[in-house]
Amino acid sequence: MSTMRLRKVAFVGTGIMGAAIAAHLMDAGYDLTVYNRTKEKAQSLLDRGAKWAASPKEAAESADVVFTMVGYPKDVEEVYLASDGLLATTQKGAWMVDLTTSSPQLARDIHGYAEVSDKHAVDCPVTGGEEGAIAGTLTLMLGCTQKEAEPLMPLLSTFSSKVLFFDEAGAGQVAKLCNQISLASCMVGYAEALALAKQTGLDQNKVRELVLGGTGASAAMERLAPLSLDGDFAPRFKSEHLLKDLSLATFEADELELNLPGTTTARNLFDLLCQVGGGSLGSQGVSLLYEDEATCTAAGLDWSKLDEQDGD
Ligand code: NAP
Repeated sequence: MSTMRLRKVAFVGTGIMGAAIAAHLMDAGYDLTVYNRTKEKAQSLLDRGAKWAASPKEAAESADVVFTMVGYPKDVEEVYLASDGLLATTQKGAWMVDLTTSSPQLARDIHGYAEVSDKHAVDCPVTGGEEGAIAGTLTLMLGCTQKEAEPLMPLLSTFSSKVLFFDEAGAGQVAKLCNQISLASCMVGYAEALALAKQTGLDQNKVRELVLGGTGASAAMERLAPLSLDGDFAPRFKSEHLLKDLSLATFEADELELNLPGTTTARNLFDLLCQVGGGSLGSQGVSLLYEDEATCTAAGLDWSKLDEQDGD
């Protein structure tokens, strides 16, 4: 299949990230068919002329390229590996590009299954958040070589400003987990810096300004700390997704007998946040773990859920 023929695009998973990414493909003139578990979340794309498919199979059957941006590895498994999933129903020569942050081993398996059926499957997780998805400036981590990805580049360039090639199937996912490890510790760092500032009566905004001027600066302190300080915990990147990523990262590290105590600590903190009802809050909700009960309750957390679990 030549590059020029990659015109018909299917998109499975039109949540926070997927809807924004798919919109760029439409803007660039690609013929787009979409499927999402909850149809309403695809409505903005349908209103702009995207076609609706009632299943991944229906979306994939005539597509040259299928993008997937679902939540968890179990969703990726369902969409690709079910008997009527993408691996079985895409046409020969088609591309499948998984943008989900998912398991490296699952990405290797899917790549291998696709190859034996004369299809192409590549892991391509992204970073840059909802903001980057809307602006079309995401950074992509590809589990293939630059040469292998050539036919895809016109499509990928519609929603990215940087593409890094990690050469092997699954390696894009490993790179993404490295990114999440670094991010998680920065998030715990800003939450704890602001907690100490508050407890000692310092102006938290002034402390943030101080940190941003030195080597303790991070994108988390720059972009997420203001949300915490404003009490805005709406999801841009869900806490339950960061917990998923850190669990994938600690699983990889365990396999390699690599000890990552900072990541384990961050994972445990996000696990706690999810256990008390914060899974669907934005990841900036980690700062709530350092707040008093009234503030937590106002944000929707319920610490009695921990007692219920202890009593199980
Ligand atoms: P999201 O808003 O929950 O979107 C995921 C979408 O996938 C949902 O609309 C969901 O349907 C749909 N879905 C799940 N399983 C499906 C299935 N089997 N068939 C069809 N649709 C299915 O999450 P998101 O924030 O866009 O994140 C998506 C992925 O990108 C996650 O792996 C996340 O870790 C990663 N990521 C997120 C960000 C970010 O800033 N948000 C940044 C980089 C990477 P429903 O509507 O029915 O739930």
